[in-house]
Amino acid sequence: MNAGAVNIMTQWIRPQLRALSAYHVPDVGHLIKLDAMENPYTWPAPMVDEWLNVLRTVSLNRYPDPHARDLKARLRSTLQVPPGMDIMLGNGSDELIQIIAMAVAAPGRTVLSPEPSFSMYRMIAAFVGLEFVGVPLDAKDYGLDMPAMREAIARHRPAVVFLSYPNNPTGNLFDEQQVRELIDISPGLVVVDEAYNAFADSTFMPYLTQYDNLLVLRTLSKMGLAGLRIGVLTGSPVWLNELDKIRLPYNISVLTQASTEFALRHYDILEAQAAKLRDHREQLLAALRALKGITVYPSRANFILFRVPSGRAAHIFESIKAQGVLIKSMHGASALLADCLRVTVSTPEENQAFLQALEKAL
Ligand SMILES: *Cc1c(COP(=O)(O)O)cnc(C)c1O
Repeated sequence: MNAGAVNIMTQWIRPQLRALSAYHVPDVGHLIKLDAMENPYTWPAPMVDEWLNVLRTVSLNRYPDPHARDLKARLRSTLQVPPGMDIMLGNGSDELIQIIAMAVAAPGRTVLSPEPSFSMYRMIAAFVGLEFVGVPLDAKDYGLDMPAMREAIARHRPAVVFLSYPNNPTGNLFDEQQVRELIDISPGLVVVDEAYNAFADSTFMPYLTQYDNLLVLRTLSKMGLAGLRIGVLTGSPVWLNELDKIRLPYNISVLTQASTEFALRHYDILEAQAAKLRDHREQLLAALRALKGITVYPSRANFILFRVPSGRAAHIFESIKAQGVLIKSMHGASALLADCLRVTVSTPEENQAFLQALEKAL
């Protein structure tokens, strides 16, 4: 490496940033990809043709509508955003998490989340110089440890509490009454991250009008549009008007705006795919529960967390991969995830390939 560059870089890049490693995305090659909660289904051919015709009308030489008015209007009705509440769009919900963190960042301030949860909460807090407090979940069922949460909120007075609902990577929904208590006792924002809403049958969206410090975060990624990168933050204009100042003006490209609008006109197809995946999840849960030697956790999302016999996670992960199926090893990510692996729910064929590989590996 260039010693001169390293020398100057270490003087200027913040030590907190140098200490981090970049979000790891593995090389997939020909593997069956069950590591990232993607929807395996594509669109019927006539719908693809119709979409390509829409794209023909898009002006690539012009900047996108900075407020994405048409798209937001459609999202408002599709997602049933309560009257009086606003919408802000991000280049994926990751960008919206980053915007929220940037808006509150100041020395001595804290972001809080139960752990294990979505790793970007901790990483983004570090990027913008916020302290991060992770409060361990209840070890037996990955529910909220309420005494610990109350104590941590009182002590750190977090600027933002992030709650993944359902929780990634554990798959469970936190207790609704407990989440409401956390919103009540939090001095700052509570962001309920509903990335897996399509698979959960439970939402805090209707509560937006009841709480002054609640924002609800959605994404279309897990529903079948991961490649588009479209995240949706909903909440009071009191908050969103401020957050919108940080959003870069043209963060949603013309292609994304047109494609998302088109996809929302066919939302019934995305919903039918999600319904199929919920059925497949129940089948996969049942099949996993029938295997000896593993512990399977309940899931309200499109992935399943399970624990393998002690000390064997790395071997089992590698063996499944050698058989052509990529899942995600959570072992080492947190003390509470020792010996745990996470698999995305997919088509019956891909789920079967995974099950066979797992049985062999065990
Ligand atoms: C996948 C995921 C996201 C990020 O989604 P994008 O919209 O693709 O950036 C956010 N939160 C949770 C909990 C997730 O699992």
